[in-house]
Amino acid sequence: MKAGVVAVQGAFPEHVRSLERALANNGHKGSVITVRRLEELEQVCCLIIPGGESTAISKLLSRHGLHDQIVRRAVEGMPIMGTCAGCVLLAKEGDDEVHKTGTELLGLVDMAVDRNAFGRQRESFEAPIDVKGFDSPFPGVFIRAPVISRTWGRCKVMAAHSGKIVMVRQDNLIGLSFHPELSEDTRIHEMLLGLL
Ligand code: GLN
Repeated sequence: MKAGVVAVQGAFPEHVRSLERALANNGHKGSVITVRRLEELEQVCCLIIPGGESTAISKLLSRHGLHDQIVRRAVEGMPIMGTCAGCVLLAKEGDDEVHKTGTELLGLVDMAVDRNAFGRQRESFEAPIDVKGFDSPFPGVFIRAPVISRTWGRCKVMAAHSGKIVMVRQDNLIGLSFHPELSEDTRIHEMLLGLL
């Protein structure tokens, strides 16, 4: 099996490493590939959309023909995790900045996002995050992070920080506003593999 990391822009090399470690920890046989082209997307059985610049990532996904195919695979049930900018793209509703910049959301998860909600206060910070189902806090690294401002429908809150939602799950989809690939802890990457 192959796990994929979208690699059009942003923090993808760290996700490749974390996924490789998570695969080994879970005893999965498989490899991790970067995804820039449709042929690569077709090979993977789960996908990470990394942090970076959500406007840039959205434009590149459309240009490479990946946008519609990611939506199709998500609807078919492929596990997908979006972190930070990737979490913004999973949302059904964006904020003013998303609209002003013409960022085309994938529109998959029943949530609204506020793009730089944490970033305006503090550019970046670390905080221990209590994630539903984990027996100890996860080291959360937040970099100009979005906040999940509202959820509805099938979307379930997995973690909050300072009263703000920072992680959700909706069936085969996981969205989080922090960067799990920047810590040594692979539990969130293992959670994605657990959805296979
Ligand atoms: N604020 C960025 C955006 O919305 C995301 C930052 C990040 O991914 N680290 O594009």
